[in-house]
Amino acid sequence: MGTIKLYATSILLFASWVMSCQNASFSAVANDDKKPKKASVPIDKFARKAFVYDSTKNYIYLTFDDGPQNGTQACFDLCKQLGVKATFFMVGEHASSPKTKAIVAGIREAYPNFLLCNHSTTHASGHYKYFYHHPEMAAEDFYAAQKSLNVPYKIIRLPGNSAWVLKDTIKASHLVDSTCILLNSTGYNVIGWDVEWSFNHKTENPVQKPQRMVDIVDSALAKPRRLFAKNHVVILSHDRMFRNPSYTDSLAKFITILKQNPKNVFETIDHYPGLK
Ligand SMILES: [Zn+2]
Repeated sequence: MGTIKLYATSILLFASWVMSCQNASFSAVANDDKKPKKASVPIDKFARKAFVYDSTKNYIYLTFDDGPQNGTQACFDLCKQLGVKATFFMVGEHASSPKTKAIVAGIREAYPNFLLCNHSTTHASGHYKYFYHHPEMAAEDFYAAQKSLNVPYKIIRLPGNSAWVLKDTIKASHLVDSTCILLNSTGYNVIGWDVEWSFNHKTENPVQKPQRMVDIVDSALAKPRRLFAKNHVVILSHDRMFRNPSYTDSLAKFITILKQNPKNVFETIDHYPGLK
């Protein structure tokens, strides 16, 4: 018995010695300046890849507007916990402190599960007509947010207006059409929405109950004419609606019910069909 034990221990010692040698030689290669450092070449996780759609699925795009704000982190944490993808359309001026900048960076880095997109610098300062009557100024406002937030893709949502600018399509109301044409000419996509989870403008709490929202999504999917793209539903909501735990719970219920349908797939908005 003693001999067998000693023999087994020797084998283990030999194996660990071999492994330590391998690690040592790996470190030596990694530290050798003369050899190419393959590991140091950053992988561009934002490189565009072809996306294959499954026509039997419903694609759900959860979008949260106006962050970083009170509620952004709660939405992010919840989606992460439930394993669903989501898109945050963010406002440049809302990312002015180290804390809010860190929230933006956290979302940017969480790709491909989360996507950071452009929702302008000033949110039109609440004066939508003035903003869109000055399309060059409006476009500059978006370009500044693209830079200050370091947005990975040219994907915009207009403040206060649901318009669409894709590779071969522009669908915009008269108010925003000049701005959309300008943004299109500089390579931007603009994403509107199919259904909205509205909020009470006094309390900023959600208006519809989670099951009601699921019914709205299901009925939109059942009537393709109500969707901008068949089988693809873009849901607009605002991070701040879910800042209180009871409403974070409403969002959790909404997502959980949608997840129960095996046809539903949650995607980030860069996978919406027809983008440039
Ligand atoms: Zn907004």
